[in-house]
Amino acid sequence: MCGIVAYLGEREAYPVLIKGLKRLEYRGYDSAGVALLDNDLHVYKKAGKVSELEAFVADKNINGNIGIGHTRWATHGVPNDTNAHPHMSNSGQFALVHNGIIENYAPIKEQLQKSGYVFHSQTDTEVLVNLIEEVKKQEKVSLEDAVRIALNQVVGAYAIVVIDKENNDRLIAARKGSPLVVGIGEAEFFVASDASPIIEYTKHVVYLDDQEYAIIDRDGTFTVKTLGNVEISPFIQQLQLDLESIEKGGFEHFMLKEIYEQPKVIKDAIRGRMNATDGWIKLGGVSEFANRINNAKRIIITACGTSWHSGLIAEYLIETLARVPVEVEYASEFRYRNPIVNESDVVIAISQSGETADTLAAIEIAKERQALVYGICNVIGSSIARATHAGSYTHAGPEIGVASTKAFTTQVVILTLMALQLAQQKGTISLSYLRQVLYELDNLHVKIEATLKLDSHIKEIAAKIKDVENALYLGRGYNFPVALEGALKLKEISYIHAEGYPAAEMKHGPIALIDENLPVIILATNESAYEKIVSNVQEVKARKGIVIAVVNEGDTQIKQMADYVIEVPKTEEVLSPLITMIPLQLLSYHIAVMRGANVDQPRNLAKSVTVE
Ligand code: GLU
Repeated sequence: MCGIVAYLGEREAYPVLIKGLKRLEYRGYDSAGVALLDNDLHVYKKAGKVSELEAFVADKNINGNIGIGHTRWATHGVPNDTNAHPHMSNSGQFALVHNGIIENYAPIKEQLQKSGYVFHSQTDTEVLVNLIEEVKKQEKVSLEDAVRIALNQVVGAYAIVVIDKENNDRLIAARKGSPLVVGIGEAEFFVASDASPIIEYTKHVVYLDDQEYAIIDRDGTFTVKTLGNVEISPFIQQLQLDLESIEKGGFEHFMLKEIYEQPKVIKDAIRGRMNATDGWIKLGGVSEFANRINNAKRIIITACGTSWHSGLIAEYLIETLARVPVEVEYASEFRYRNPIVNESDVVIAISQSGETADTLAAIEIAKERQALVYGICNVIGSSIARATHAGSYTHAGPEIGVASTKAFTTQVVILTLMALQLAQQKGTISLSYLRQVLYELDNLHVKIEATLKLDSHIKEIAAKIKDVENALYLGRGYNFPVALEGALKLKEISYIHAEGYPAAEMKHGPIALIDENLPVIILATNESAYEKIVSNVQEVKARKGIVIAVVNEGDTQIKQMADYVIEVPKTEEVLSPLITMIPLQLLSYHIAVMRGANVDQPRNLAKSVTVE
């Protein structure tokens, strides 16, 4: 969480920082701030969005060609001007931006207070910048040494950039547990939490690894060292990202753009990985570790939020198709409950950003216990991609809307391919069935396009229910996790309380909620349980609930009973989440827009959850 950006070079730093912060705003938007170094160090910070900071500095001195910036997702201390970053050391010599949590900040703070330090904010970050100052003073060392020594004393996660008022030729950046990338231009350097603030200036980047720090100098020297003070040669990579993919491209919101990108990204996710005619699937990692994966006694899927929902779909897919027992665990629970994992297990870790702190910690536990760990993430080169033994990228492209859409569907695509490949390797499905599913998957983008055409109809339904306070989502089988994800989408962006349930569970509790004001969104595309779902619709109608049913084209029975019907193209049941999710995304989107909510940056949330 939180976005960091820094600049050192010949340009004015402020425009680079402010533009970068806007691109990183998806990571946090509680407050924002910049520190600019000219003849003097100017720090400007403001609660609220980056645009509020922009308005605030309008009449200020924003000169300087070195600076650091931050957009915050508060962990320690409320989002106000004082807690906003950058934080300064007591002497006013150092300013620092930080992404993460310093877990042992309390004893360090106490110690510093005893030495006379005064704290203005409630943040852990202000403790770190003062610790650096104190180390520098006590040990009489350079800033670089002070940063390294201080970081060796702190426990927790961080990406930081430090600036020294006395030296406008140097930036120091370090990371452990939170991402940081350095852009190397012609006589200029950029540092950021992801590559989006850098992309328009240079394509040459270095992703810092955990426990590494960089010393960046105006004369072009760029040194990377470990926190053990060993110099290493940085690996300079070419950025694959293009500018267009991180802009809205004519859509009102990133979320809508990303919903509409799904036909394309689903094609990208399967490209080169399967052939329907010949009946093969080849996910590199699954092939490479075929032996271990085929012989796995159990598959454990670990993830958070939306990715956990795609894991639940995978449980149905893998158990049905490949007949391997699957458990799906919240990474945050898995990591702390001393789970039973051993070398005969395969652990699949799913995360859009590849930086989710809890999922990374779960991976470490699985690795310690000798399991094979397979990562599924979207961001290339991310921590999870590097920490796992094997994996597959989802190739969804940058997802900027905080509520996940295309990352979810592409995760489901990869997990479907995994389940099918495993089933093929284990001989648990026939070649003809495999071909049938692959053929359908190959053409699914056409059906998703058709589903997107229902947008205006879905918008009309949204207008009817936008003012409700609660909503219930029901589904069976593959559509049960879709119901959970649909409810999450509505909660996240419209702030309507929503719950997802297996349709049959309704009568064990949620049925008590049903009255004439409660919309019940029922996913009714499953052929195998159609009659059962018809009964569920009856049960809701008998209690006067408002039924919004997602049905297959040509449905007759449910159509007659439901208040609103969304008819989607029929597909193979194993692929149905990839279709049924689309109307639920659109429904949440329109409701949120109609309620005046900030769709791309819902309150309290942030994308890329790098704190636990
Ligand atoms: N822990 C720091 C704070 O609360 C940084 C949070 C962040 O990553 O934005 O200010």
